[in-house]
Amino acid sequence: MTENFIGGVWTGAESGRRFERRNPADTRSVVATAPDSAAADVAAAVGAVEAGRHEWAAAGPEKRAEVLNAAAAVLERDPEKLAAELVAEEGKTFGEALGEVRRTPANLRFYASEALRMTGRTYPAASGLVYTARQPVGVVAAITPWNFPLNIPSRKLGPALAAGNGVVYKPSEVTPVLAMRMVEALLEAGVPKGALALVHGGGEVGAALVGDPRVSAVTFTGSTAVGERIHSAVGPDRRTQLELGGKNAVVVLEDADLDRAADLIVRGAFGLTGQACTGTSRVIAHTDVHDALLERVVARTEALTIGDGMTDGVQLGPLATQEQYDKTRRYVQLGLDEGARLHTGGQPPADVEHGYFLEPAVFSGVAPDSRLAQEEVFGPLVAFLEVASFAEAVEVADATPYGLSTGIVTGDLGRALAFAEQVTSGLVKINQPTTGMAGNAPFGGLKASSTQTSKEQAGEQMSQFYTAEKTVYVSP
Ligand code: NAD
Repeated sequence: MTENFIGGVWTGAESGRRFERRNPADTRSVVATAPDSAAADVAAAVGAVEAGRHEWAAAGPEKRAEVLNAAAAVLERDPEKLAAELVAEEGKTFGEALGEVRRTPANLRFYASEALRMTGRTYPAASGLVYTARQPVGVVAAITPWNFPLNIPSRKLGPALAAGNGVVYKPSEVTPVLAMRMVEALLEAGVPKGALALVHGGGEVGAALVGDPRVSAVTFTGSTAVGERIHSAVGPDRRTQLELGGKNAVVVLEDADLDRAADLIVRGAFGLTGQACTGTSRVIAHTDVHDALLERVVARTEALTIGDGMTDGVQLGPLATQEQYDKTRRYVQLGLDEGARLHTGGQPPADVEHGYFLEPAVFSGVAPDSRLAQEEVFGPLVAFLEVASFAEAVEVADATPYGLSTGIVTGDLGRALAFAEQVTSGLVKINQPTTGMAGNAPFGGLKASSTQTSKEQAGEQMSQFYTAEKTVYVSP
């Protein structure tokens, strides 16, 4: 059972209503219940943080760094237990969950060190002194998706708190337990009770939070549709940082090592059961290698073991929700309706009754302008497209509304670097899967994959987003 955290107290929704979360690998099992909050709970949370955040702002950067480092240590106390909770709640495999649990404290430590680096500047002046100073922006709303329920919040709560802000955190309704674990760790480590609130619930709760004028900045990760709604609701006089959807491609040139290419495609497409924002959903293969690559990818896909993420040897867990399951199946049907060829997968495994399991799907003959090539599926489905040249590969890679993570596989470094220069993508991966990022390098998309107002994990841009800058003129 999880609760909201508002005004220093763990509490239910004002209405008393609750919702439940079931294990996606066995939907008979209820993992948790959480408050089904509404606008009144959001208003209470924002009011509490607006009133309570000043102690944290006054604590100073060293204290804030110390507390974030301590929160990292709390999360490191029992990684296996947290990973098991993550598997039960979200459905990823235990190995994937453990990776996320281990990455999260490292993120908090990164932001702890950034707390000490939020510098201003001095400027040449005819007389006296001109300098810039940074202050917290005030109340930050953090709204997150379910696919990385520890890692993504750490990339929002970490920098927001490092900069001295108060935070109202609205996690995905799919992952209330891990949201509570993150807040528990921060409170135990010493974040003042008034500086942090947690409000569970769905889209209406997020919308009420975004609409509260006492919120100075909204950091959001989720779908492009919701992000665009948030962007217009926030308006020009408050800030947004939006990390959104993708339709990520791997280009495979004619000189590529095809085994290597197939390995990184399968990892990028079907890791996290295809539910990574940077997941590979298109393969753009040169005609000369298309068929041989497809054969390798299909063989590797068919060798994947599907099952409950807690079972040893399982490489592909269930989809996280009924909605994700239905959506992926709809796109399988759409691909067939559009005339693409399904080589494997797209069906539930024969022996599964109570989970959202789906065999990973590989399509070929997908037209660049078809919906299968254009729209984010966010499930275990990859579409092969064929091109005849490097120039066409760049063109097809760019021919979607998104621009998050794009890969290229080639032994020709010159063409790889030319690709990195020409493609419109926030992240470019050369001979690497489209998934998997460093925790200390800027992260964010271009085009419809982000508002491009500020990158995550980028020291300077991060401090710009989470602080207000003042220019001060001094005469003695
Ligand atoms: P979603 O957009 O449905 O929900 C994200 C969050 O927004 C949830 O907490 C949800 O309750 C809340 N929300 C829903 N409607 C809202 C509204 N009107 N106002 C305010 N908040 C609202 O996304 P999801 O299904 O949780 O996650 C999957 C999506 O997230 C995919 O599109 C994926 O690509 C994207 N994603 C992007 C990144 C990235 O870094 N670019 C990372 C992970 C996931």
